[in-house]
Amino acid sequence: MTNAAHVSLLTELSRLDVGQCTFAAPLAEYCTWRIGGPADLLVEPQNIAQIQRLRRFASEHALPLVTIGQGSNLLFSDAGVRGIVLRLGQRFARLAIKEDRITAEAGVWIPGLARKAQQAGLTGLEHIVGIPGTVGGLVLMNGGSHRQCIGDLVERVTLVTPDGETQELSATACDFSYRHSALQESGGVVVRVDLLCPRGDRRAIRQVMLADLRERRGKFPLHTPNCGSVFLSSAAMHASVGPPGRIIEERGLKGRRVGGAEVSLQHANFIVNRGGATAEDVLTLITAIRAEVRNAIGFELDCEVRYVSPEGEIGPAHRACPRP
Ligand SMILES: Cc1cc2nc3c(=O)[nH]c(=O)nc-3n(C[C@H](O)[C@H](O)[C@H](O)COP(=O)(O)OP(=O)(O)OC[C@H]3O[C@@H](n4cnc5c(N)ncnc54)[C@H](O)[C@@H]3O)c2cc1C
Repeated sequence: MTNAAHVSLLTELSRLDVGQCTFAAPLAEYCTWRIGGPADLLVEPQNIAQIQRLRRFASEHALPLVTIGQGSNLLFSDAGVRGIVLRLGQRFARLAIKEDRITAEAGVWIPGLARKAQQAGLTGLEHIVGIPGTVGGLVLMNGGSHRQCIGDLVERVTLVTPDGETQELSATACDFSYRHSALQESGGVVVRVDLLCPRGDRRAIRQVMLADLRERRGKFPLHTPNCGSVFLSSAAMHASVGPPGRIIEERGLKGRRVGGAEVSLQHANFIVNRGGATAEDVLTLITAIRAEVRNAIGFELDCEVRYVSPEGEIGPAHRACPRP
């Protein structure tokens, strides 16, 4: 497709009822690492009909489409995205609680969901109170902490498929495992999640949440742009070689820097943007860390953070690193 045809399609799309459209949106402003070039078109819908229309248009015209929430687990290319970025946030963030069921739209802010559950006397979401993303990203990543994952409480996920149809998936069909769900391969847009939470004691739930937030403030470099844990840290890995932060720290890599990207002095599984870091800087640093760990203990560190290519492909960031 010529550039003129591409621009004309995106212009046509922006005139449909799909939500708020921004051309040449700087992706650095839409992620917590503050890294990334422009997206040709960023669209922020506020209802499912708009998401269906957008998804159908992108499929019919073979336009790359990337769905994002808060961008707290993403590394965007320095070249940005040559297509559409569909962002689900505050405009798509309704939440309802009925007895033990919470129904949340994908753009709901995770700490807000945890607090609403606490106020309703529902337990099980204490471990997500400090995760700075949206419900859609959390469910797709099967995120969580303290060895718990959101998938443990999911009853049902509603998706918009690449054909623009809505589809409901049970927790079994989502096939949740550590930081993985079948949703990652589906190409669908998560629009709504139903969670079933047991009843608990409001005050006790609050105490657990406050303790989690205190622990995070002490452990993580929360005041410098970052993307959370860069490398995966599963229970199996802890048992065999230990957590990635400790492995990286033991190699003396804290403070190692490439351009504006630096291994955090506070927590070695975090890479912070010291100012002006590029995606290239981060990928080069990830490559160096993996090589040092491989050479020292023969273990291959895989990334939890996901890289978004200019063509709109998304996958674990180590797959975008040069091969050893
Ligand atoms: C300081 C800090 C601490 C963190 N701590 C934790 C932690 O303790 N545990 C943890 O699990 N994570 C943690 N993270 C990582 C991140 O916050 C989570 O993965 C979060 O759930 C991502 O949500 P998001 O909305 O930012 O998703 P994004 O980063 O925008 O996207 C992540 C993935 O989900 C996809 N996606 C997003 N929304 C949708 C949707 N609606 N439909 C389909 N696909 C979608 C994207 O395409 C991408 O593949 C942390 C990050 C930071 C910066």
